[in-house]
Amino acid sequence: MENIKKTYDHQKNVLDGIDLEIKQGEFFVLVGPSGSGKSTLLRMIAGLETISSGVLQINDKIVNHLRPKDRNLSMVFQNYALYPHLTVEQNILFGLRAKKVDKKEQQKRLMDAAEMMGLTELLKRKPKQLSGGQRQRVALARSVVSHAPLCLMDEPLSNLDAKLRAHMRMEIRRLQKRLGLTMIYVTHDQVEAMTMGDRIMVLNDGIIQQVGDPITLYNEPANLFVASFIGSPK
Ligand code: ADP
Ligand code: MG
Repeated sequence: MENIKKTYDHQKNVLDGIDLEIKQGEFFVLVGPSGSGKSTLLRMIAGLETISSGVLQINDKIVNHLRPKDRNLSMVFQNYALYPHLTVEQNILFGLRAKKVDKKEQQKRLMDAAEMMGLTELLKRKPKQLSGGQRQRVALARSVVSHAPLCLMDEPLSNLDAKLRAHMRMEIRRLQKRLGLTMIYVTHDQVEAMTMGDRIMVLNDGIIQQVGDPITLYNEPANLFVASFIGSPK
């Protein structure tokens, strides 16, 4: 990202000059308080939001105007965004069916993802017959079957209770490692950021406060905002 800016309706910048390079295969966390611009930035990467100015590249290719489905990425939302009238299986395969992926290949990916996410017994159920954790697993499985190398997640665990959240953090990390994904993970939760991220970007009011690994952020916060947000002693 080079000097990325975003205004909605010619109001003030909600993102104000974002310069950032995320490396292939890293687990990158965007953290900041509510309203700081995290979802806007993620949606711009996904192509769901226009970029007001600046340059966005994926694999050295400028993608500012590329359609979402041509960006070769998957996205997991806070509310899971499952179709209530479709079964678990149909939800997981929705994107592949739309892309007309070969039927045999669909089944193979479905079985792999279902096993990975512990959903094998639940494929014929509807979302309302699932717990919150199970729904979240369906959303993860849907992203897994896409085989996209870049995965975006926007506060995927915020609807879960504390115990399940801790468990799912580990599952997501394991999944990311196992598939070698490049992950961009949004959260407003400092603990989640510090325990999951290879690197973390702290955002406030549309401006990057600091980018670094958890230990650097904790020991050498760039300013008071980072220090108090991360909870370090400085
Ligand atoms: P976060 O995800 O960090 O909570 P958002 O990216 O959702 O932050 O929002 C950043 C700012 O942009 C907020 O002030 C929010 O009110 C504003 N905003 C977000 N989406 C829209 C929109 N569609 N139209 C106008 N303003 C928006
Ligand atoms: Mg948000």
